[in-house]
Amino acid sequence: MEIDLEFYSPVHQIKNKLFDEQGINVFIKRDDLIHPIISGNKWRKLKYLLKKARAENKSHLVTFGGAYSNHLLATAAAAAQFGFKSTGIVRGEAVNNDTLFLCRLHGMQLLFTDRESYRDKPALFDKYFAGDPEAIFIDEGGASPEGAKGCSELVNELPQTYHHIFCACGTGTTAAGIINGIHQHNLPTQFHAVPVLKNGDFMKVEINKLLAPPVNFELHTEYHFGGYGKTNDELIDFIKQFVAETGILIEPVYTGKMLYAVYDLAAKGYFKPGENILAIHSGGIWGLLGMKEKFGKIL
Ligand SMILES: *Cc1c(COP(=O)(O)O)cnc(C)c1O
Repeated sequence: MEIDLEFYSPVHQIKNKLFDEQGINVFIKRDDLIHPIISGNKWRKLKYLLKKARAENKSHLVTFGGAYSNHLLATAAAAAQFGFKSTGIVRGEAVNNDTLFLCRLHGMQLLFTDRESYRDKPALFDKYFAGDPEAIFIDEGGASPEGAKGCSELVNELPQTYHHIFCACGTGTTAAGIINGIHQHNLPTQFHAVPVLKNGDFMKVEINKLLAPPVNFELHTEYHFGGYGKTNDELIDFIKQFVAETGILIEPVYTGKMLYAVYDLAAKGYFKPGENILAIHSGGIWGLLGMKEKFGKIL
């Protein structure tokens, strides 16, 4: 089967009082609608990795992630859809949860590994699959030049030119791809990366590794809420209000933090009247399954 998905990822405008007062237009690109499981940037990142696997006659995708990884789940579903076997090497002791249940349901084999060994992913691949000519290594989160190439295609789909584009970053692959796309189209758009990890300055280096050629972008390192997967009441309240007001589902690990940044910067008068701002909804709403208890009373 040809490795491609026909998908729907429209741009919607978000209307509210804050944006009206600031005289700005805020839009959201609905990559969350690409596929229920192979959602958002995960499909974009996997597309050329899967094409490469197919071209090299590799029939077994081996990849890595934490127990709530959107990437593991997307890889499991993409493998099933396009006729690959899949193995997920999972960080930490053997557990079961909703995400891993869905991975298994899509036929993914799971191997758990301690946090120490998890650091050296090529060594783990060799440990289990060194002699397997069918197996191909796919890095955690789909981080790769192929992943960035897939993400650059998002820019081809934009219906207008924006002054600003915002995106959440974990590995920085998606951000790098979009920046490359902006450059390829010669757009005057300013790109803003919002790292979801603490000490996000390192993201500059990670993104720069995948840029061709180097391009300036903004990095907003103050919206990590304590680190990867961490939240607080302010973020949870923001998400509850956003979902209830817009009908657009977001989660606290990535898109929630990025959108919080957009609203916070808007409230601080960061944008000029008349500016058009695009936020990328990078999908991953299954991540909510690991965060239910954080939502407190509404459960
Ligand atoms: C994985 C993920 C990201 C991070 O993408 P990177 O390319 O690793 O920076 C962002 N948003 C969502 C919803 C994700 O699942």
